[in-house]
Amino acid sequence: MTFEQDAELKTTIRKIALINAIRHHGKAQTGPVIGKLLGEKPELRTSAKEIASLVSEVIQEVNILPLNKQKRIVDERWPEALIKEKVEEEKRLPPLPNVDKYAQVVTRFSPNPDCVLHLGSARAIVLCYAYARLYNGKFILRFEDTDPKLKRPVLKFYDRIREDLAWLGCKPDEEYIQSDRITLYYKYAEKLLKDDNAYVCTCHPKQFREKVLDNKPCECRGLPLEEQLKRWNRMLNGYYKEGEAVVRVKTDLNHPNPAVREWPALRVINSQNHPHPRVGSKYHVWPLYNFACGIDDHLMGVTHIIRGKEHLTNMVRQEFMYRYLGWTYPEAIHYGRLKITGASLSKSKIVQGIRQGLYKDWDDPRLATFAALRRRGITPEAIKKLIVDVGPKTSDVVLSWENLYAYNRKILDPKADRYFFVHNPIQLTVKNVPKTFTAKLRLHPDHSERGFRKYTITPKGDNNSVALWISRSDIDTLKVGKMIRLMELFNIKLERLDAYSAEASFMSEAYNDARRAGASLIHWIPIGADIPCEVVMQDATIAAGIAESACKGLRANDLIQFERFGFVRIDEINAKLTAYYSHR
Ligand SMILES: [Zn+2]
Repeated sequence: MTFEQDAELKTTIRKIALINAIRHHGKAQTGPVIGKLLGEKPELRTSAKEIASLVSEVIQEVNILPLNKQKRIVDERWPEALIKEKVEEEKRLPPLPNVDKYAQVVTRFSPNPDCVLHLGSARAIVLCYAYARLYNGKFILRFEDTDPKLKRPVLKFYDRIREDLAWLGCKPDEEYIQSDRITLYYKYAEKLLKDDNAYVCTCHPKQFREKVLDNKPCECRGLPLEEQLKRWNRMLNGYYKEGEAVVRVKTDLNHPNPAVREWPALRVINSQNHPHPRVGSKYHVWPLYNFACGIDDHLMGVTHIIRGKEHLTNMVRQEFMYRYLGWTYPEAIHYGRLKITGASLSKSKIVQGIRQGLYKDWDDPRLATFAALRRRGITPEAIKKLIVDVGPKTSDVVLSWENLYAYNRKILDPKADRYFFVHNPIQLTVKNVPKTFTAKLRLHPDHSERGFRKYTITPKGDNNSVALWISRSDIDTLKVGKMIRLMELFNIKLERLDAYSAEASFMSEAYNDARRAGASLIHWIPIGADIPCEVVMQDATIAAGIAESACKGLRANDLIQFERFGFVRIDEINAKLTAYYSHR
């Protein structure tokens, strides 16, 4: 590297480091700076080691500068940089492929109504909906309810799913239910059979599998059309019992993926034993996933299928059928898995937990169902923003609850009014209070226009004392003999303290005294100006205590912050206040 090249490189690093520092309160971070540099200059990847030491050298120089100096340098030398950064941050979803090929973009979300929806479905819903809106297209909800035996749909979940979509703000433009369309699937099955592109297989599954793994056809594949149609009618008229016959789509017997070969399209289910919740025992030939889904995507005009990459093999299967029917397969976007650490996104585990009584209901706070998130005060906006920011990338994404909470906090913080909740209350008696105090507590620290909660504290008795509730959780931080600031009220000196009560005497009113003494700030509620309150925590335990009496004016579904405790959603309010904990 020449001296000039070296100087130029250093300038580039300095620019990246300065911009990074401005975004991180004046302290640039090595990892992101190196990442950005190698993104801009991939040729440097071969000398990553030297680059790393050069970067840390430049970062040291940058980080000793005060933030306003850093900003001034960037403004003077690269005035476009900060604006560009902002635009990049605001950049949203990447464009869909081949939009111009279609008159209208059509996307679909297709759940099986055998459970409520959970966070794992959020990616499919939000992306399909957002793209439909982005291109002024159409978003379809399609209930895939054609397995009354193993994935048996449940009536109430059709409505629950509609409710969840409405809550998320992703209302569909059209809705279909596959169990209404069974005879339509029969029509296409017949066409495939007549065109010699499918056959009715009556082999024992195990023997069939052995043949197919060996790249060999079973005896049924070559039978004449007449025999195929006879068998098909026997499927329909109940001659074949469950498990005795399936319609298979012809594929390439030498396809490298055995799972693609000769996939089953329709099968017999004993509908007397397994009645469907909507159509009862009317049908006993039911389409399987790939068949019904493949037919519907074409008939409903879906142009862009956006789904998890676990569906890649299904696309390969369905493409055989599309060729036979002379159809063109829609654009397919397969995104990676979305995992949330600490959240069970397995439908079967949720269902099992409910059945065993481990969870009280579908909105148990331990679950990642939309119902539970809604009850806990997680906003649909936070979920949507998180999903759009993650986008449809193919790599797997691991998120934590904290990621979601960070989005939610950003939304709640400016909206939520503040109140006091004293968890595990103990009585604090303050003596020698010289006069009546009126505490004016802002409903929101940044919005005085929203008003105040007002409490008048009047000393009583021989030693002019007042009685307040404080939280037992604060005891650990308090020490006898030390000054404590009661938030927005006055300063006291602690004189006696045990697990059940505390005594103190009045010291002074000014906040500055407390600041100078480095006093702890604690919240409080006047005894008598309170309402019993229970907060249901994320692990379903209950934090019991009392809330200030101003909370009596709240309503169910209000989202507030209990100061020094966390954000909560008001669940119920009568003689007692019940809230659900969102996060800190
Ligand atoms: Zn067979």
